[in-house]
Amino acid sequence: RKRAGRNGAHIFDPSMLDDTIHRSEIESHIEQALKHDWFEVHFQPIHDLATGSIQGFEALLRLRHPQKGLISPAAVIPVAEETGMIGRIGAVVLDKAVAQLARLSTFPSLEHAYVAVNFSALQFDPGLSARIAAVISHHGLQPHRLVVEITEAVLMEDNPQIRATLEEIARFGCRIALDDFGTGYSSLNYLNRFPVNIVKIDRSFVSASADPSPSVAFKSRLLIEGITMISHKMDCQVIAEGVETEAQARTLAEAGVNFGQGYHFARPMPFETLLERFATPAVA
Ligand code: C2E
Ligand code: CA
Ligand code: CA
Ligand code: CA
Repeated sequence: RKRAGRNGAHIFDPSMLDDTIHRSEIESHIEQALKHDWFEVHFQPIHDLATGSIQGFEALLRLRHPQKGLISPAAVIPVAEETGMIGRIGAVVLDKAVAQLARLSTFPSLEHAYVAVNFSALQFDPGLSARIAAVISHHGLQPHRLVVEITEAVLMEDNPQIRATLEEIARFGCRIALDDFGTGYSSLNYLNRFPVNIVKIDRSFVSASADPSPSVAFKSRLLIEGITMISHKMDCQVIAEGVETEAQARTLAEAGVNFGQGYHFARPMPFETLLERFATPAVA
């Protein structure tokens, strides 16, 4: 059942074009990456649309292969899920993302920033909330500095164990973001049934809001406004994903969206680049 759901969720994923040879190649890259510490976390800033200030960063997995270069999560994650390696990869991402957040916190400009980490359904085993709590406490961070990003796929089967784990994570004080919002079967239906704090409007709405057809653009803006209004009434903050132009950022701000993330602001970058760009101590 899980496998079918997962394949369903990846129908439009370009990695589905991979043949089995490619898959087994990725699988061996993953094994080596776990063994030799080739996994990295890249960071993409999330900006307040009203003030421009950075609120946090999304942590995005990269596999740095010594010969092939950077391999994208779109290739890695589906294979990791099928082979059961997602648990170990997820642990690496969580450790690195939180350790790097702790380092960022030493810079006054970023001392309140959060890090958002993606979790797939298969990572929601009964030990997850304890592992999250241990990592956060180990680095002496406040739990709200970690945002747990999940998609509808995590909530879809309404698995009591996943629900219990999410509620534990929420009680511990981490925030929960619902990713790719609006692209699933019943996005709105999850807001009242799970402890969601942040809604991430999928980038398909953002790009459609600048569609060359005025009626498509107009209706997309109405959808963004409506999602934002409902989210706010449910006490959720709203982030728009895939903001690529200044005009989109303005439209989103006018629609009441709180935060934006996308190439208009910055592409995902390695931690060292992030430090150079955003954590330079102020010149006296
Ligand atoms: P996502 O969580 O929806 O992450 C956003 C994706 O959009 C990222 O792709 C990001 O690089 C890309 N993006 C950001 N701004 C823009 C923009 O302005 N325009 C466009 N066209 N794209 C933009 P990325 O890094 O390739 O990640 C792809 C997906 O892989 C993620 O989608 C997420 O579902 C998954 N993923 C990434 N890291 C992890 C991880 O550590 N664990 C798990 N389970 N999944 C991950
Ligand atoms: Ca995400
Ligand atoms: Ca997303
Ligand atoms: Ca996505």
